[in-house]
Amino acid sequence: MAIPPYKAPSRYAYDIVIVGGAVIGSSTAYWLSQALGSGASILVVERDSSYEFSSTALSTSAIRQQYSNPINVKISQFGIEIIRGFQERMAPFYTNEPAPDLGFKEHGYLYCCSPEGVEAAKERVELQRSLGAHTVFLEPGPLKERFPWLNVDDLGGGSWGAREEGWFDSMGMLNGFRRAARASGVEYIDNAVT
Ligand SMILES: Cc1cc2nc3c(=O)[nH]c(=O)nc-3n(C[C@H](O)[C@H](O)[C@H](O)COP(=O)(O)OP(=O)(O)OC[C@H]3O[C@@H](n4cnc5c(N)ncnc54)[C@H](O)[C@@H]3O)c2cc1C
Repeated sequence: MAIPPYKAPSRYAYDIVIVGGAVIGSSTAYWLSQALGSGASILVVERDSSYEFSSTALSTSAIRQQYSNPINVKISQFGIEIIRGFQERMAPFYTNEPAPDLGFKEHGYLYCCSPEGVEAAKERVELQRSLGAHTVFLEPGPLKERFPWLNVDDLGGGSWGAREEGWFDSMGMLNGFRRAARASGVEYIDNAVT
């Protein structure tokens, strides 16, 4: 990856500088721009605007509610809300073309566990369900019925989330957030922070 030649930002100083403009940097820039309006100047510095080697581009982009920490479950529930409403949220920033549809595929998420892991897996399912997730624990028999191609011989079972879990287009999300941030006054420059 060639580092681009130095290009000075338009201001001498900014209220907020974000290093890295992939999905997290651009999401942060978007949310800050919406919260602060013209009250704060924001700069995003991105060393490779092709995003070729970014995790965002390499990601499988799966989303699940299956976590053992309640905060992560809540964050993921917020994520689903954002993914589902993304096109509508982005529409004001796409006046000449359709806003990106993240193509969310709600095809579920399965975590297999060994016989030793069953108790802990069931506890996680209970926790997730208490927070509103739709996860269920499947014993090996029902697991085989649901996934006939799966060898369940050495499995204790699996936790299965059929709703609000699946995968989506992470580059569409990055492009949407980036465009919306720029349209809201955030400046992006191609450069590496050292
Ligand atoms: C193979 C793989 C599969 C994954 N699968 C999933 C999944 O299924 N579900 C899921 O939720 N997550 C998954 N992830 C994780 C997810 O992709 C990342 O958590 C997410 O993309 C992180 O976004 P980011 O913007 O923080 O980082 P990145 O996308 O890596 O972006 C960082 C950006 O910062 C720039 N940068 C870095 N240093 C500098 C610097 N000094 N100056 C200027 N710019 C700089 C980089 O060029 C890059 O564009 C996966 C990750 C990988 C690699």
